[in-house]
Amino acid sequence: MIIVLLGPPGSGKGTQAELIRKNFGFYKISIGDMFREAIKREDNIGKKAKRYLATGKLVPDSLVLKMVKREFVSRKGRRNIIFDGFPRNINQARDFNEFLNSVNKKIALVFYFDIPFSILSERLLQRRICPRCGAVYNLGTAPPISHNICDRCGSILAKREDDRAEIVKNRFQVYEKETAPVKKFYSKKEVLVNINSDANEDGIWRLVKKHIDRKFNQEKTK
Ligand code: ADP
Ligand code: ZN
Repeated sequence: MIIVLLGPPGSGKGTQAELIRKNFGFYKISIGDMFREAIKREDNIGKKAKRYLATGKLVPDSLVLKMVKREFVSRKGRRNIIFDGFPRNINQARDFNEFLNSVNKKIALVFYFDIPFSILSERLLQRRICPRCGAVYNLGTAPPISHNICDRCGSILAKREDDRAEIVKNRFQVYEKETAPVKKFYSKKEVLVNINSDANEDGIWRLVKKHIDRKFNQEKTK
Protein backbone atom coordinates (compact mmCIF):
# COMPACT_ATOMS: atom_id res chain seq x y z
CA MET A 1 0.00 0.00 0.00
CA ILE A 2 1.27 3.45 -0.91
CA ILE A 3 0.23 6.46 1.15
CA VAL A 4 1.00 10.13 0.49
CA LEU A 5 0.82 12.83 3.16
CA LEU A 6 0.05 16.29 1.90
CA GLY A 7 -0.31 19.53 3.82
CA PRO A 8 1.28 22.86 4.63
CA PRO A 9 4.46 23.16 6.73
CA GLY A 10 3.62 22.50 10.37
CA SER A 11 0.36 20.67 9.67
CA GLY A 12 1.60 17.55 11.47
CA LYS A 13 2.48 15.38 8.47
CA GLY A 14 5.78 14.34 9.99
CA THR A 15 4.16 13.26 13.26
CA GLN A 16 1.52 11.18 11.51
CA ALA A 17 4.11 9.69 9.14
CA GLU A 18 6.09 8.49 12.13
CA LEU A 19 2.95 6.99 13.73
CA ILE A 20 2.08 5.14 10.53
CA ARG A 21 5.62 3.81 10.28
CA LYS A 22 5.66 2.61 13.87
CA ASN A 23 2.14 1.16 14.10
CA PHE A 24 1.76 -0.37 10.65
CA GLY A 25 5.41 -1.02 9.76
CA PHE A 26 5.38 1.17 6.66
CA TYR A 27 8.66 2.11 5.05
CA LYS A 28 8.84 5.90 5.45
CA ILE A 29 10.25 8.20 2.82
CA SER A 30 10.58 11.73 4.17
CA ILE A 31 12.34 13.93 1.65
CA GLY A 32 12.85 16.79 4.11
CA ASP A 33 14.57 14.46 6.61
CA MET A 34 16.70 12.97 3.86
CA PHE A 35 17.91 16.41 2.83
CA ARG A 36 18.58 17.49 6.41
CA GLU A 37 20.66 14.34 6.97
CA ALA A 38 22.56 14.89 3.71
CA ILE A 39 23.29 18.47 4.75
CA LYS A 40 24.61 17.27 8.11
CA ARG A 41 26.84 14.73 6.37
CA GLU A 42 27.94 17.44 3.91
CA ASP A 43 27.72 15.00 1.02
CA ASN A 44 26.99 15.86 -2.61
CA ILE A 45 23.23 15.92 -2.26
CA GLY A 46 23.54 17.96 0.93
CA LYS A 47 25.69 20.53 -0.84
CA LYS A 48 23.17 20.87 -3.64
CA ALA A 49 20.11 21.07 -1.36
CA LYS A 50 21.45 23.32 1.37
CA ARG A 51 20.59 26.73 0.00
CA TYR A 52 17.04 25.69 -0.89
CA LEU A 53 16.24 24.47 2.59
CA ALA A 54 17.90 27.50 4.13
CA THR A 55 15.62 29.85 2.20
CA GLY A 56 12.46 27.73 2.27
CA LYS A 57 12.40 27.02 -1.48
CA LEU A 58 11.76 23.70 -3.15
CA VAL A 59 14.80 21.66 -4.08
CA PRO A 60 14.86 21.17 -7.90
CA ASP A 61 12.56 18.38 -9.11
CA SER A 62 15.32 16.48 -10.89
CA LEU A 63 17.20 15.91 -7.64
CA VAL A 64 14.06 15.09 -5.62
CA LEU A 65 12.75 12.62 -8.18
CA LYS A 66 16.09 10.88 -8.43
CA MET A 67 16.18 10.43 -4.66
CA VAL A 68 12.60 9.23 -4.45
CA LYS A 69 13.12 6.58 -7.10
CA ARG A 70 16.35 5.42 -5.53
CA GLU A 71 14.66 5.11 -2.12
CA PHE A 72 11.69 3.36 -3.65
CA VAL A 73 13.88 0.74 -5.26
CA SER A 74 15.99 0.18 -2.13
CA ARG A 75 13.04 -0.08 0.24
CA LYS A 76 14.22 -3.39 1.61
CA GLY A 77 11.45 -5.48 0.15
CA ARG A 78 8.66 -3.73 1.96
CA ARG A 79 5.32 -3.41 0.20
CA ASN A 80 3.89 -0.59 2.27
CA ILE A 81 5.43 2.82 1.82
CA ILE A 82 4.56 6.23 3.13
CA PHE A 83 5.68 9.46 1.49
CA ASP A 84 5.97 12.44 3.82
CA GLY A 85 6.22 15.73 1.95
CA PHE A 86 6.27 14.34 -1.56
CA PRO A 87 5.02 15.17 -4.19
CA ARG A 88 5.19 18.87 -3.60
CA ASN A 89 4.29 20.29 -6.99
CA ILE A 90 2.33 19.17 -10.05
CA ASN A 91 5.41 18.18 -11.99
CA GLN A 92 6.54 15.85 -9.20
CA ALA A 93 3.02 14.42 -8.91
CA ARG A 94 2.84 13.65 -12.65
CA ASP A 95 6.29 12.16 -12.81
CA PHE A 96 5.57 10.05 -9.71
CA ASN A 97 2.38 8.72 -11.29
CA GLU A 98 4.21 7.70 -14.42
CA PHE A 99 6.85 6.01 -12.33
CA LEU A 100 4.25 4.11 -10.29
CA ASN A 101 2.48 3.04 -13.48
CA SER A 102 5.74 1.70 -14.82
CA VAL A 103 6.19 -0.52 -11.76
CA ASN A 104 2.52 -1.48 -11.70
CA LYS A 105 1.69 0.28 -8.43
CA LYS A 106 -0.94 2.78 -7.35
CA ILE A 107 -1.41 5.30 -4.56
CA ALA A 108 -4.00 3.93 -2.13
CA LEU A 109 -4.55 7.02 0.04
CA VAL A 110 -3.62 10.70 0.05
CA PHE A 111 -4.16 12.39 3.38
CA TYR A 112 -4.53 16.13 3.19
CA PHE A 113 -3.97 17.86 6.53
CA ASP A 114 -6.12 20.95 6.56
CA ILE A 115 -5.45 23.78 8.97
CA PRO A 116 -5.63 27.61 9.09
CA PHE A 117 -2.39 29.44 8.35
CA SER A 118 -2.60 31.56 11.49
CA ILE A 119 -2.23 28.46 13.68
CA LEU A 120 0.54 27.05 11.53
CA SER A 121 2.96 29.89 11.81
CA GLU A 122 2.59 29.87 15.61
CA ARG A 123 3.27 26.13 15.65
CA LEU A 124 6.42 26.44 13.55
CA LEU A 125 7.83 29.31 15.55
CA GLN A 126 7.30 27.35 18.79
CA ARG A 127 8.66 24.08 17.43
CA ARG A 128 11.84 22.66 18.92
CA ILE A 129 13.60 19.50 17.83
CA CYS A 130 16.15 17.21 19.40
CA PRO A 131 19.25 17.20 17.19
CA ARG A 132 20.24 13.79 18.52
CA CYS A 133 17.11 11.60 18.58
CA GLY A 134 14.71 13.62 16.41
CA ALA A 135 12.00 14.09 19.06
CA VAL A 136 9.73 17.07 18.32
CA TYR A 137 8.38 19.50 20.94
CA ASN A 138 6.23 22.60 20.97
CA LEU A 139 6.93 25.20 23.62
CA GLY A 140 3.27 26.14 23.67
CA THR A 141 1.37 22.86 23.43
CA ALA A 142 3.88 20.05 24.04
CA PRO A 143 6.88 21.39 25.99
CA PRO A 144 9.67 19.17 27.36
CA ILE A 145 9.61 18.44 31.08
CA SER A 146 12.73 20.46 31.78
CA HIS A 147 13.27 23.65 29.86
CA ASN A 148 15.04 23.11 26.52
CA ILE A 149 16.15 19.55 27.34
CA CYS A 150 15.00 16.46 25.43
CA ASP A 151 12.84 14.16 27.60
CA ARG A 152 14.05 11.10 25.73
CA CYS A 153 17.82 11.56 25.53
CA GLY A 154 18.78 14.66 27.54
CA SER A 155 20.23 16.65 24.63
CA ILE A 156 19.78 20.39 24.34
CA LEU A 157 16.91 21.21 22.00
CA ALA A 158 17.30 23.28 18.85
CA LYS A 159 15.17 25.19 16.39
CA ARG A 160 14.98 23.90 12.85
CA GLU A 161 16.94 26.33 10.65
CA ASP A 162 13.92 27.03 8.47
CA ASP A 163 11.53 27.67 11.38
CA ARG A 164 12.54 31.34 11.57
CA ALA A 165 9.87 33.94 10.82
CA GLU A 166 11.22 35.20 7.45
CA ILE A 167 11.78 31.67 6.16
CA VAL A 168 8.42 30.44 7.41
CA LYS A 169 6.81 33.15 5.31
CA ASN A 170 8.62 31.90 2.21
CA ARG A 171 7.63 28.31 2.91
CA PHE A 172 3.97 29.28 3.10
CA GLN A 173 4.24 31.19 -0.17
CA VAL A 174 5.85 28.24 -1.89
CA TYR A 175 3.16 26.00 -0.44
CA GLU A 176 0.29 28.12 -1.75
CA LYS A 177 1.76 28.43 -5.19
CA GLU A 178 3.31 24.99 -5.77
CA THR A 179 1.84 22.43 -3.37
CA ALA A 180 -1.78 23.46 -2.89
CA PRO A 181 -2.57 22.58 -6.56
CA VAL A 182 -1.38 19.01 -5.91
CA LYS A 183 -4.45 18.53 -3.74
CA LYS A 184 -6.70 19.12 -6.73
CA PHE A 185 -4.62 16.73 -8.80
CA TYR A 186 -5.42 13.92 -6.35
CA SER A 187 -9.01 14.88 -5.66
CA LYS A 188 -9.71 13.96 -9.27
CA LYS A 189 -8.27 10.54 -8.64
CA GLU A 190 -10.60 9.79 -5.72
CA VAL A 191 -7.97 8.76 -3.24
CA LEU A 192 -8.00 12.00 -1.26
CA VAL A 193 -8.96 12.09 2.42
CA ASN A 194 -9.32 15.47 4.10
CA ILE A 195 -8.23 15.59 7.71
CA ASN A 196 -8.97 18.54 9.94
CA SER A 197 -5.55 19.04 11.46
CA ASP A 198 -6.65 21.69 13.92
CA ALA A 199 -7.32 18.98 16.54
CA ASN A 200 -5.21 17.05 19.01
CA GLU A 201 -2.66 14.55 17.77
CA ASP A 202 -4.51 11.54 19.21
CA GLY A 203 -7.75 12.47 17.52
CA ILE A 204 -6.01 12.94 14.19
CA TRP A 205 -4.17 9.67 14.56
CA ARG A 206 -7.39 7.75 15.31
CA LEU A 207 -8.91 9.10 12.12
CA VAL A 208 -5.83 8.35 10.01
CA LYS A 209 -5.65 4.85 11.47
CA LYS A 210 -9.32 4.20 10.72
CA HIS A 211 -8.82 5.05 7.06
CA ILE A 212 -5.76 2.83 6.76
CA ASP A 213 -7.49 -0.09 8.51
CA ARG A 214 -10.42 0.26 6.16
CA LYS A 215 -8.13 0.27 3.13
CA PHE A 216 -6.36 -2.88 4.30
CA ASN A 217 -9.73 -4.59 4.79
CA GLN A 218 -10.88 -3.57 1.31
CA GLU A 219 -7.69 -4.99 -0.19
CA LYS A 220 -8.17 -8.26 1.63
CA THR A 221 -11.71 -8.76 0.34
CA LYS A 222 -10.73 -7.97 -3.26
P1 ADP B 1 7.84 21.24 6.07
O1 ADP B 1 6.78 20.53 5.34
O2 ADP B 1 7.51 21.43 7.52
O3 ADP B 1 8.30 22.50 5.40
P2 ADP B 1 9.87 19.26 5.26
O4 ADP B 1 10.86 18.63 6.15
O5 ADP B 1 8.88 18.40 4.57
O6 ADP B 1 9.17 20.36 6.15
O7 ADP B 1 10.65 20.10 4.13
C1 ADP B 1 11.70 20.96 4.41
C2 ADP B 1 12.36 21.49 3.13
O8 ADP B 1 12.90 20.40 2.37
C3 ADP B 1 11.45 22.22 2.16
O9 ADP B 1 11.27 23.57 2.49
C4 ADP B 1 12.20 22.03 0.83
O10 ADP B 1 13.29 22.92 0.72
C5 ADP B 1 12.76 20.63 0.96
N1 ADP B 1 11.83 19.61 0.40
C6 ADP B 1 11.16 18.65 1.11
N2 ADP B 1 10.40 17.90 0.28
C7 ADP B 1 10.57 18.39 -0.97
C8 ADP B 1 10.05 18.07 -2.26
N3 ADP B 1 9.16 17.07 -2.45
N4 ADP B 1 10.44 18.82 -3.33
C9 ADP B 1 11.32 19.82 -3.18
N5 ADP B 1 11.85 20.20 -2.00
C10 ADP B 1 11.48 19.49 -0.90
ZN1 ZN C 1 16.51 13.52 22.14
